[in-house]
Amino acid sequence: MKPKNALELVEEFSGGGSVEDYISKLIERIRREDGKIRAYLTVNEGAVEEARKLEKEIRKGRRGSLLGVGIAVKDNISTEGLRTTCASRMLENYVPPYDAEVISRIKKEGGIILGKTNMDEFAMGSSTEFSAFGPTRNPFDLSRVPGGSSGGSGAALAADLSTLALGSDTGGSIRCPSAFTSTFGLKPTYGMVSRYGLVAYANSLEQIGPMGRSVEDVALLFQVISGRDEKDSTSVEAPKIDYVEEARKGAKGFKVGVLKELTGEGVDGHVLKAFWDAVHRLEGEGVEYDEVSIKYLDYALASYYVIAMAEASSNLARFDGMRYGLRVRDQGNWEAIFSKNRSEGFGEEVKRRIILGTFVLSAGYYEEYYLKAQKVRRLLKESFDRLFKGYDLLLSPTMPTLPWRIGEKQSPLEMYLSDVATVPANLVGIPSLSVPIGFYDGLPIGLQAMAPEFGEAKAFRLGWELERIGVVP
Ligand code: GLN
Repeated sequence: MKPKNALELVEEFSGGGSVEDYISKLIERIRREDGKIRAYLTVNEGAVEEARKLEKEIRKGRRGSLLGVGIAVKDNISTEGLRTTCASRMLENYVPPYDAEVISRIKKEGGIILGKTNMDEFAMGSSTEFSAFGPTRNPFDLSRVPGGSSGGSGAALAADLSTLALGSDTGGSIRCPSAFTSTFGLKPTYGMVSRYGLVAYANSLEQIGPMGRSVEDVALLFQVISGRDEKDSTSVEAPKIDYVEEARKGAKGFKVGVLKELTGEGVDGHVLKAFWDAVHRLEGEGVEYDEVSIKYLDYALASYYVIAMAEASSNLARFDGMRYGLRVRDQGNWEAIFSKNRSEGFGEEVKRRIILGTFVLSAGYYEEYYLKAQKVRRLLKESFDRLFKGYDLLLSPTMPTLPWRIGEKQSPLEMYLSDVATVPANLVGIPSLSVPIGFYDGLPIGLQAMAPEFGEAKAFRLGWELERIGVVP
């Protein structure tokens, strides 16, 4: 039986359905099933108690748009009293004293945090294999990755270990696991969601975003978490839109562009076939499409990695192991302790990025790499702006391949290349939604719809249309 969506559950609980029953069943399921998937790093021990309390309040008239709904949260989002590790030894025992803004908003609407999900260490990766606590497995094929870095959140949804989830997306980390686990995931417009309480990887690129098993659920969660928060100076006032209502308008009459650079060489043939099938089905519903080319896209991936690593090297400087997390019990001077803590506390990939990021920012190389990457970013933004004058949305496969086997990608570069389609949206700051469009040989495939700034509603409308016509499995 298909698990219920958040919208149905909220209705059920508002009408007297038992939240406690539903939450305790989910927690039991996690305990029973998650041993083999390992979507969660920490389970919220208080969830059932919270459900019981909420049920009482509902009887007294409490309402909320996420009333009683269980939500899995990526482990780089701060949760008061609940361990937040970023899947790193460095923060292994860190229990935050405060909630991220998104968590406060979810709780206010009656949502219940089920636990914290596995990820690539500090969100650096595309497969969840770089977690210091071991990989998450793809529920569709346990020998394969669930994508990353929000792989635990995607896997939790796919295995029905949660109804909704939060991820973060710096260069694809929501959309990649969505594509690989046959779920929906939105990377919002830069500034739409407060980053207060998100452990920073690359501030200028990342956003927290919603993941779910239907477009409406993702729209619902987005509605709750988006909007200006004065604790994050980069956050903006959200347009006053009912995203769930808006999604239901569908995509008839849309004109979309299919990006040539992301549908050609280097993309797996099975992925391409599913993608084009979806586009042609949309065409049958009155969605017009053109194949379009976007200038400077070839430079996006390299620019992304220069900028992301530069920002990471600066952000991660704060982790010295002195205040929380790992502390190597060694005597010696400050520098010796500091360097020992960092050598042992960070994994290989994180260290690689700190070193490369420091390099591209160093005197003499700054202009050569970092500044050049910033220039590409600006040019790319202009190319996208131009294209959006003629098209409602730009489409491509979310990922160029099917989910790979755990351990299959041997070099870091191979891993970086898998982000080719997702990083442009982060560089440019636009929203992008990954929509499940089917399977090849039992392995999930996703389509990405990029929209102009603040155009989330358009992306939802396309996702909804794909659901309506049955392209979404
Ligand atoms: N795979 C990309 C990276 O490693 C994106 C990660 C993310 O979005 N957090 O940087």
